[in-house]
Amino acid sequence: MNNEEHFKNVISHSKEYGFIFPSSEIYDGLSAVYDYGTYGVELKNNIRTYWWKSMVQLHENIVGIDSAIFMHPTIWKASGHVDAFNDPLVDNKDSKKRYRADVLIEDYMAKQADKIEKEVEKAKKRFGEKFDETLYLATNPRITEIQNTINTVHTRFKKAMEENDLVDLRQIIVDCEIVCPISGTKNWTDVRQFNLMFSTSMGAMEESSNQLYLRPETAQGIFVNFLNVQKTTRMKIPFGIAQTGKAFRNEIVARQFIFRMREFEQMEMQFFVQPGTELQWYENWKKKRLEWHHSLGFPQSKYRYKDHTKLAHYANAACDIEFEFPFGFKELEGIHSRTDFDLKSHEKFSGKKLQYFDPELNSSYVPYVVETSVGLDRTVLAILSQSLTTETLEDGTTRDVMRIPHFLAPVKVAVLPLMKKDGLPEKGMELFNKLKLRTYCQYDEKDSIGKRYRRQDAIGTPYAITIDHQTLEDNTVTIRDRDTMKQERINMDEVEKIVMDKVDITEALKRL
Ligand code: ATP
Repeated sequence: MNNEEHFKNVISHSKEYGFIFPSSEIYDGLSAVYDYGTYGVELKNNIRTYWWKSMVQLHENIVGIDSAIFMHPTIWKASGHVDAFNDPLVDNKDSKKRYRADVLIEDYMAKQADKIEKEVEKAKKRFGEKFDETLYLATNPRITEIQNTINTVHTRFKKAMEENDLVDLRQIIVDCEIVCPISGTKNWTDVRQFNLMFSTSMGAMEESSNQLYLRPETAQGIFVNFLNVQKTTRMKIPFGIAQTGKAFRNEIVARQFIFRMREFEQMEMQFFVQPGTELQWYENWKKKRLEWHHSLGFPQSKYRYKDHTKLAHYANAACDIEFEFPFGFKELEGIHSRTDFDLKSHEKFSGKKLQYFDPELNSSYVPYVVETSVGLDRTVLAILSQSLTTETLEDGTTRDVMRIPHFLAPVKVAVLPLMKKDGLPEKGMELFNKLKLRTYCQYDEKDSIGKRYRRQDAIGTPYAITIDHQTLEDNTVTIRDRDTMKQERINMDEVEKIVMDKVDITEALKRL
């Protein structure tokens, strides 16, 4: 199965097994909006809890809040979103499809980089042991030509983005001969800026003064509460405020399933530090956040850092943690050193002081901020696409198994009486009633045992406990492991401990 087929499989599996449904499906759906089903919501809740506990519970100097989605409209003026939260868009006149100009150019550069990688792979095979990659990269004329093209486009692109030069952005698309993937033509409109905020109005009067925005990021709710939180928790700098919640962006090109949605959830932490120490903290959080992603247990080669080409108006350093989705390496989390931009700006617009009195320095200042911001839905997608595997078994049949990290699995254990008679269901319910107090457990007595195992594999349940006639005699059950499919006979009284040792979030937190 190639990556494209795998991705299609992830989407259809997510729907078929109750992870994710297109929103408003019976009305033909709503573009780039999705609903989470029974197993999707469990997975999402588990990821959110893991993030929250690893931030708030494991750090004595990080506390949480939950601010409202509606906020005073001036907040978005102060944050720069009204004036600068734009994406450059361009239309293809033949297909009438709309694209982000910056994404078209970035994809073009990524394609050129792929060409280099392919050349290197070919040469490796040709030269075998003797192959010197560094020398090859530096001297092969075809590679240096491609690299020079990338460098030139990159420099021009960076300048155009920084200077908001929309004419040159279009010219780069033309010069690179980028074609529309649908029509195959180069018939592009001018590049225009498009503001990504959704607006709505509050109260009965539809006046512009009542216009509100749906928050495009959760961060501002933290900044405007900075002093409330600092005073009520008596936190000393450095300290952080964490928040998870919905954010809304009217994305120009919303596709790739839940990767880019118009309504999505973020998990953000703003870390307030002494001015001048922010770049140290930035490096610290960069490292810690990558470790968090690695702690999920997927291959480390699936993650990489990418420094930003264009720094946002508020940042003095920024990078992304990218994950290799089935459609390539893409942003999963952003880490930004936001300077004192936000707090200073809110001071200016609100007329209120947002300063911290530092007892060690015996003076007040506006703290600097390092932000970590990870998409919850993108994390769900990373986990689903990395976990879903189709295996061919010894008898030639296949099984779909979701190898979700145990502690994040929607259902942790299933109790399956072999038959619906002879007192096996009662015994099963006895175990179920005990396990459900500790973790999310499912009881299932419908269909053949083989079909029930497959169903649990498909939703990623790490353990299945089967109750059979021997259970009635000696109180033993079989425990089946999702990944190895091995079954072991154990005493029923041991089930709770064995399962909890493997699925409990505490074990995952200890590894951080
Ligand atoms: P992108 O470059 O992909 O548009 P961004 O740099 O605008 O993302 P940030 O503003 O840094 O994203 O937001 C932090 C995180 O929120 C991102 O790393 C991503 O995981 C998530 N996110 C942002 N936009 C979306 C979206 N439209 N749908 C789902 N998740 C999103």
